[in-house]
Amino acid sequence: MDFNQMGRLLKLAETVDLDQVMHLAEKVDLAEVIQAIAGLDQATLDAMVKMLKRQANGQSHPPPPVDGDFYRIADLLTDEQRAVQQRVRRFMETEVQPIINEYWQRDEFPKRLLPAFRELDLIRAIFNDDGSRKPGASLTEGIATMEMARVDVSTATFFGVHAGLAIWSILLGGSDAQVRAWLPKLLDMEVIGAFGLTEPEVGSAVAGGLTTTCRRDGDAWVLNGEKKWIGNATFADVIVIWAREEASGAVRGFLVRPDNPGYHVEKIQGKIALRAVENGHITLTDCRVPEADRLQKVDTWRTVADVLRATRAGVAWQGVGCAMGAYEHSLRYARERRQFGRPIGRFQLIQDKLVFMLGNVTAMQTLCVRLAQLQDAGLMRDEHASLAKVFTAARCRDTVALARDLHGGNGILLDHHVARHFCDTEAIYSYEGTNEINSLVVGRAITGESAFV
Ligand SMILES: Cc1cc2nc3c(=O)[nH]c(=O)nc-3n(C[C@H](O)[C@H](O)[C@H](O)COP(=O)(O)OP(=O)(O)OC[C@H]3O[C@@H](n4cnc5c(N)ncnc54)[C@H](O)[C@@H]3O)c2cc1C
Repeated sequence: MDFNQMGRLLKLAETVDLDQVMHLAEKVDLAEVIQAIAGLDQATLDAMVKMLKRQANGQSHPPPPVDGDFYRIADLLTDEQRAVQQRVRRFMETEVQPIINEYWQRDEFPKRLLPAFRELDLIRAIFNDDGSRKPGASLTEGIATMEMARVDVSTATFFGVHAGLAIWSILLGGSDAQVRAWLPKLLDMEVIGAFGLTEPEVGSAVAGGLTTTCRRDGDAWVLNGEKKWIGNATFADVIVIWAREEASGAVRGFLVRPDNPGYHVEKIQGKIALRAVENGHITLTDCRVPEADRLQKVDTWRTVADVLRATRAGVAWQGVGCAMGAYEHSLRYARERRQFGRPIGRFQLIQDKLVFMLGNVTAMQTLCVRLAQLQDAGLMRDEHASLAKVFTAARCRDTVALARDLHGGNGILLDHHVARHFCDTEAIYSYEGTNEINSLVVGRAITGESAFV
């Protein structure tokens, strides 16, 4: 072997995985191999170097697809549901993903997406014109929510507040005339809804502790109090406000419009989660609302509880989607990011993290599919929705933490997306009942003992 050939051989050796060489060396006569290589011409040697480089990069076979649906949940969907899933996925990947970090950073909801959102015609895939639910609506809604949160939880939250909390409040609390007046516009997203229950001093204890008051005054009602954290409130056309009647103590619901006298909203600043959701702090100062805008069927907490049960399932699906997105970003990153001369996805500890994440995602998906089946069959109880919310919020937290970790320093940069998922999970954990409160709901159901106070 001459000097040049030796140089080329060393160059070749640099590109290959030493473990692989040692493994090969046990099986073949190395002297014979070296002799054969030394006899090769330059073109063949170059081709071999290229091939080995591709192998060292893990590109010799097309890599398996990056797919967070490991147990083929999509196979359980009807053709219509799969079409909704694909429509939402396309919208999220092409319209939302490219701009969302900018809006998240600016603390602003991307209202320019509303026309494209309307074109998705998503809410009409869930509700019929009269407000009844389409067959399999809960699974359709769940899968759509998962797809949204897979890319961005703020978008899923905007949708959940409007299509869940606001629409359910009107459907369950409104008279037939109110439903007829509002529902078509809400289904088409011609008007956007919000839901005002939580108050600055009353969060978890709001069921018995509403301090916002209402009193009848002729043809109108007079509302006083404050509401905190109200999603979409800064731009919503109608805000459902829950209050307690001064005289009777009854719970009442009102359809408040931003131009009602005495209504004021300010955007809450400085959040570290769901920054692209605009949460409002509402002040009601002798706010006058016509009797015609009081939700006519509401006089107890029961209506609010029914709304929250329906929407809590949606929040469970948000956890699924958020974790699924974090897992997929991580798998992609593990293939691209190289350290110690190889993709980090070749390290055992990295694979272990990915498998743990995928296990979480798969468990969450299968749990929520069953929850949706119970919901569609009219069998879902409070504790069913609460268990799913507790489980997915906690598993999502584990999953996004691993995703952030797997991205190293890049895990705290918005550019790589998992940082947003990491932060947004904190809101999932705390809203629609904190994980502690939802745990207590399940605890009460299984022990027969209420441990809230
Ligand atoms: C991003 C975001 C969006 C939201 N959107 C809306 C919205 O659109 N509309 C709306 O009405 N509300 C909204 N909320 C409010 C949300 O529902 C409340 O934050 C939630 O109910 C918790 O109330 P709190 O924040 O006042 O916490 P608190 O009730 O003050 O709880 C503080 C801590 O004490 C724990 N705790 C309380 N009671 C018990 C108990 N009995 N046993 C054990 N632990 C207990 C809680 O779990 C929590 O860890 C939103 C909140 C966030 C963060």
